[in-house]
Amino acid sequence: ARKFFVGGNFKMNGTIESIKSIVKGLNEAQLDSNAEVVIAPPALYLLLVREHLKNGIQVAAQNVFDKPNGAFTGEISVSQLKDSGINWSILGHSERRTILGESDEVVASKTKVATEGGVSVIWCCGESLEEREAGKTVDVVERQLAAVSAKIGDWKNVVIAYEPIWAIGTGKVATTQQAQDVHAAIRKWLKANVSDKVAEETRILYGGSVNGKNCKELAKQEDIDGFLVGGASLKPEFVDIINANQ
Ligand code: 13P
Repeated sequence: ARKFFVGGNFKMNGTIESIKSIVKGLNEAQLDSNAEVVIAPPALYLLLVREHLKNGIQVAAQNVFDKPNGAFTGEISVSQLKDSGINWSILGHSERRTILGESDEVVASKTKVATEGGVSVIWCCGESLEEREAGKTVDVVERQLAAVSAKIGDWKNVVIAYEPIWAIGTGKVATTQQAQDVHAAIRKWLKANVSDKVAEETRILYGGSVNGKNCKELAKQEDIDGFLVGGASLKPEFVDIINANQ
């Protein structure tokens, strides 16, 4: 069985004080011991979080660059993350794809370099509202999958997050059926294009307006193995989401 996984993506939110308070809340909470939990604060706070976090929770960067070192102002390398004890990264988030202009190929290249360098990846995919309404959801996700699959050899350290863009930060969660259908399509694609083993073992998370109320029903779906949470990861209800599968 796939281990339930919950990621908290803080995005560009928080202060030293508010992030310390979130970490304190997580340290004191009763968390499902069968859930794997990873939180992703802004880069500036990664070390602070890593230092204070207990309860077996891991820390992720929200991005990483695909070059080993050098003249890349503003970027952070995989080896610098490793050096700082940060063993996860979110890559290909739709905000980086759309606002920061990262192409499928750039995301794939970063995923390759991170996984080969020993940093596990929460790899995100998902369609826009326009694409969904045009009936292109599965095509878009398959195109994104094909790009990353062409570059990486090993899926062992990859968790997939399906995040429909229209559901992110909108309060408009996908229905359990909409989410389950795309998750099943992703697993089918992995089976056909990678291997039975990768299809069976890879966790597929849902992200987009997940909260303490809607998480339980989503978690029951066969192909939903956890969540990538934005807004609610900054709030006490994040604990309820971590415990959604209990
Ligand atoms: P929200 O949970 O705020 O909708 O954000 C989802 C997300 O983008 C997580 O990466």
